[in-house]
Amino acid sequence: MAKVELEHVWKIYEGKVEAVKDATFTIEDKEFVVLLGPSGCGKTTTLRMIAGLEEITRGTLKIDGKVMNDVEPKDRDIAMVFQNYALYPHMTVYDNMAFGLKLRKFPKNEIEKRVKEAAKILGIEELLDRKPRQLSGGQRQRVAVGRAIVRNPKVFLFDEPLSNLDAKLRVQMRSELKKLHHRLEATIVYVTHDQIEAMTMADKIIVMKDGVIQQVGTPNEIYNKPANTFVAGFIGSPAMNFIDSKIIKDNGLWIKSDGLKLKIPKQFEELLEQYIDKEVIFGIRPENIYDKMFAMAPSEGENTASAQVDVVEPLGSETILHLIAGNDKFVAVVDPKTQAKEEQIIDVVFDMNAMHIFDKETGKAVL
Ligand code: ATP
Repeated sequence: MAKVELEHVWKIYEGKVEAVKDATFTIEDKEFVVLLGPSGCGKTTTLRMIAGLEEITRGTLKIDGKVMNDVEPKDRDIAMVFQNYALYPHMTVYDNMAFGLKLRKFPKNEIEKRVKEAAKILGIEELLDRKPRQLSGGQRQRVAVGRAIVRNPKVFLFDEPLSNLDAKLRVQMRSELKKLHHRLEATIVYVTHDQIEAMTMADKIIVMKDGVIQQVGTPNEIYNKPANTFVAGFIGSPAMNFIDSKIIKDNGLWIKSDGLKLKIPKQFEELLEQYIDKEVIFGIRPENIYDKMFAMAPSEGENTASAQVDVVEPLGSETILHLIAGNDKFVAVVDPKTQAKEEQIIDVVFDMNAMHIFDKETGKAVL
């Protein structure tokens, strides 16, 4: 069992920098949790407080129900994999992996058994005699993970472990780490600013901004039910479109912006009643706007608009259109067979069942 709980945890550096503000969340046993957010949002600080490398200013950290605030890092039964791997350059791979166990005075045969087992899991058995400089980035990364595995810790902490790898290797290591998680049945806390890593690996994502937790949820919840405009804009690429609009009543409810008038599906009417004649932010993901010629959502006229094509970006499997309607600018990801050309006016269909509404003042999701 390895459950990690943070209760109203604060980190204030030098009495003034509020790096983490009132963080409360639970990481369940065997869960793969990703702390996600832009640079400087407090992810690494949170991870380092769990590891014991950073003192907790206020609040409580519990592991398996026991308060850990004042427990030494070495006694927390946690292993951390750093961004730069922190391998000892003069030691072989074997010795790098064995180092922590030697320090803890494990018997030699036990060390050998654990190192060989971890090397097998990670497919680095052939590399045990090499020095770190004789390894590729991906191999070094595996050694760093191996060093954590041999300790058989309660909790693994990963601090942006893939950020030094090239794009192709990142994709490969992503799926390897995911498989490893299943195999080890470990509790993992993983820090990244890469939303794709978070979406593909996490059981649960914790989104942070300016030291404050914005939302905790499954990848599906974070993507489909973002709590506010920050989360909505941070997850998904290209990002969700935000269009300043008003909700008006005219034989049903409509989204009305400078360049768009779109019918709101009946199912949302009750929820949006209180926003009639109020300004809101209309959110729609680029993949929910179609070139009318290839629309996957039914085009009923009431969910269709004309827009001028500003830029066409063909990516092969899909095409990104930058569109303008009145003063509104938005992006659509459309079928690559689109005939749309720059400066042309085209009809686009909005899948209004996928719409979001955010409060203009607070940015909080209404729908
Ligand atoms: P990155 O992705 O860039 O590592 P992060 O989300 O992990 O960012 P943190 O490293 O946790 O962010 O930093 C959070 C805030 O705390 C930042 O404003 C940072 O400047 C500040 N900070 C971090 N460490 C210290 C320190 N030792 N002393 C003072 N301020 C610090």
